[in-house]
Amino acid sequence: MNLLPRVLILMILGSIPLFAAKSPNFVVIFCDDLGYGDLGCFGHPTIQTPNLDRMAAQGIKFTQFYAAAPVCTPSRAALLTGRLPVRSGMCSDKRRVLFPDSAGGLPQREITLAEGLKTKGYATAAIGKWHLGHKTQYLPTNNGFDTYFGIPYSNDMDRIASATKYREACKNAKIEYFNVPLLRDTKEIERPADQTTITRRYTEEAIRFIQTNKNNPFFVYLAHSMPHVPLFRDKPFVGVSKRGIYGDVIEEIDWSVGQILKTLQDEGLAENTLVWFTSDNGPWLIFETHGGSAGLLRDGKGSTWEGGMREPGIAWWPGRIKPHTNHSIASTMDIYTTCLTLAGAKVPEDRVVDGMDLTSVLLKGGKGPREAMFFYRGEQLYAVRKGPWKAHYITRAAYGRSQPEKHDPPVLYHLDHDPAEKHDLAKENPVVLAEIAKVVKEHNAKLVRGKNQLNTLIQK
Ligand code: MG
Repeated sequence: MNLLPRVLILMILGSIPLFAAKSPNFVVIFCDDLGYGDLGCFGHPTIQTPNLDRMAAQGIKFTQFYAAAPVCTPSRAALLTGRLPVRSGMCSDKRRVLFPDSAGGLPQREITLAEGLKTKGYATAAIGKWHLGHKTQYLPTNNGFDTYFGIPYSNDMDRIASATKYREACKNAKIEYFNVPLLRDTKEIERPADQTTITRRYTEEAIRFIQTNKNNPFFVYLAHSMPHVPLFRDKPFVGVSKRGIYGDVIEEIDWSVGQILKTLQDEGLAENTLVWFTSDNGPWLIFETHGGSAGLLRDGKGSTWEGGMREPGIAWWPGRIKPHTNHSIASTMDIYTTCLTLAGAKVPEDRVVDGMDLTSVLLKGGKGPREAMFFYRGEQLYAVRKGPWKAHYITRAAYGRSQPEKHDPPVLYHLDHDPAEKHDLAKENPVVLAEIAKVVKEHNAKLVRGKNQLNTLIQK
């Protein structure tokens, strides 16, 4: 063999391990209370989301993508641990989320996605809403993140009660009505946080982190405070949307997504970066036009009907992902397992991990590994999906004084035929009900409930 082909072969062989060793970067963009029907690419008729539409067209649009709980705290715990919140104790029948007077937070024994990626040398940033405990030991910087910048819980908390009533304060919002802190790592740097610029500042922070860490693998968890009420947006977005203030807020988030994708492209990082976009739970319908839309799905935030937990799900990874629309059942918990797997990090084996590896779906398309989805409200299992079928054992209105209604036999919907959950087919399908009952039995047999973290209050 003459010299040139040998050199070429050596060069190629030499470059393979280098290429293979380059760990992908991860960006998870997580909205708050965004509904299934709130994006242009998911069918909203007047909200304009050109950047998200492009992201979906270049990536995978998941039509059956689920948050792991219908409210903030448990949903976020599940995303970052890959586990149903009932296992970590990050859910409650009494207090559905953490509040500023809560003493608890994500238990130290949980292994967050950031902690998992740290074992492979990732630089990690949490930006935005945390809501997994605001006492120092529970903050992101003690949960695998190198840095944190954000409002540590919901943007409607710490309300100045004397200013005006809650609903009124949310609908005609002023910064000074909500005395929420803005933290840098563990230090308060602004209070009340100027929420009108919060989406822009979260975006700038994410871009800065990406640019600073472009030479080593990184993980950015960007959890927007919006579109949770009270709604705020920066000046350039005031009055831009035909959908009113809620549309303005979504269009600013869409701008933010565009800025982040552009940064990845400008820095030459796009083909080595997997970006996810989704939300923690469905739209907060009791806020009427200040809440979003679940599109054709039933109900919204707080409920175990589809509108409470099914979310727009988008994955983007130019050159690696096969662009398509995917109808597989998938969950935010799968982000955990998929990212750890792609990074070559260990998925914990000493505990139940509910997240599943979507690598093959991302790279090749086709049907994903997930067959079942469990719908918890607080600590109680309300419904279970297996394949296209969903059985509700308990139903309850999302908010208000309504009591839970138990169903025996359960009510049963075929979600592929009836995503709006209108037509109960329990009577005609006893075999399906028996199969789902088996799934529930197996689930309950293995379930170890984590110690409740949401009911403890700060001692005064
Ligand atoms: Mg939420």
